[in-house]
Amino acid sequence: MFDRASVVTPGGVNSPVRAFRAVGGTPRFMVSGTGPYLTDADGREYVDLVCSWGPMILGHSHPEVIAAVQEAVSRGTSFGTPGEGEVALAEEIVARIEPVEQVRLVSSGTEATMSAIRLARGFTGRAKVVKFAGCYHGHVDALLAAAGSGLATFGLPDTPGVTGATAGDTVVLPYNDLDAVRAAFAAHPGEIACVITEASPGNMGVVPPADGFNAGLKELCAANGALYISDEVMTGFRTSKAGWYGVDGVRPDLMTFGKVMGGGFPAAAFGGRADVMAHLAPAGPVYQAGTLSGNPVATAAGLAQLRLLDDAAYARIDAVSAELRTLVGDAFTKEGVAHTVSSASNMFSVFFTDQPVRNYDDAKKQEAFRFTAFFHSMLEQGVYLPPSAFESWFVSTAHDERAIERVAAALPAAARAAS
Ligand code: PLP
Repeated sequence: MFDRASVVTPGGVNSPVRAFRAVGGTPRFMVSGTGPYLTDADGREYVDLVCSWGPMILGHSHPEVIAAVQEAVSRGTSFGTPGEGEVALAEEIVARIEPVEQVRLVSSGTEATMSAIRLARGFTGRAKVVKFAGCYHGHVDALLAAAGSGLATFGLPDTPGVTGATAGDTVVLPYNDLDAVRAAFAAHPGEIACVITEASPGNMGVVPPADGFNAGLKELCAANGALYISDEVMTGFRTSKAGWYGVDGVRPDLMTFGKVMGGGFPAAAFGGRADVMAHLAPAGPVYQAGTLSGNPVATAAGLAQLRLLDDAAYARIDAVSAELRTLVGDAFTKEGVAHTVSSASNMFSVFFTDQPVRNYDDAKKQEAFRFTAFFHSMLEQGVYLPPSAFESWFVSTAHDERAIERVAAALPAAARAAS
């Protein structure tokens, strides 16, 4: 299948992180998923610790999500008109996340961040955008500078195809460094439209914000007339019922969402202050649109998934994450492998260093080659991890004791392989 794919698709994949470029070998083609398991085209089963890079927070083929999709699909797949499902999903988001007074639905996280930035520029009448090295906000031209995720995996600083003019208004700063943000505002007075940050980064591996970092960003933005945009595409509806906002309570001006809110379908969103959102067409002058935005099948899947994510579900996900973190850490300790299991709520990843990791430069200092050996051993033993040392691992409510035991059984040999 990979040979076939490589003929008709560059690199054989439709998103670079799916390729095994960093770790070598052939990507597995998955044909089905049930609960915490994936089955590949050769009939091998894996415990899935990627969860489609975050969305499958209830595991695969959750019966209630599948039923909602089947019901929606039986009525048609797209109407290009307003529909009740998109209103219900927007209401659910607004009800859960207090700073979101209004929300616009889109089809991918990339569209969400791209649109939020355009809106921030339109609202403030300013051009410059501050982002942090190692934070990934989708493949938006202006945000593909020192962007983490696939770029980190492939060791790229940025990408050809983004012109100097497009990236010229992007100011890239080290993460967790408020002094650098202060200096940027001083260097560009009245020019910075917004600061965009991953609410808690997962795209350089998991590197949580230092105490007071997000609050400091918010304060500096407010003092300088810029908008504070919290990208919750990864953390939203995952790290708590109200995402990372539910963890640190720092109130953004705009927020972006994706992944979990689509229930495995392409649905994403941006939203926030009503006075800012009022600048969006057709209410205001800042244009933004989408043929499939608010698609009825995607919104039905997303709504069904969100409605199942109650306090008990988050307690379960947090417990699974904590158990796995302990098992992983113990396995490396036993083999004497220098490591840090880094976590933010229930998101976590392993850095192969015992030094603190506070930003992208720190993350890049890890001994990533150890991850390659670890990854392949786990894969051979039926555990599917993200194929990169710079990505978060994800778990779901479906990861039961049997799945955890299978991971536990694979860890000793994999940790040995990494030593
Ligand atoms: N923002 C963050 C924090 C992400 O993690 C991602 C994707 O991984 C995106 C934006 C882009 O989302 P999408 O891949 O749906 O375009």
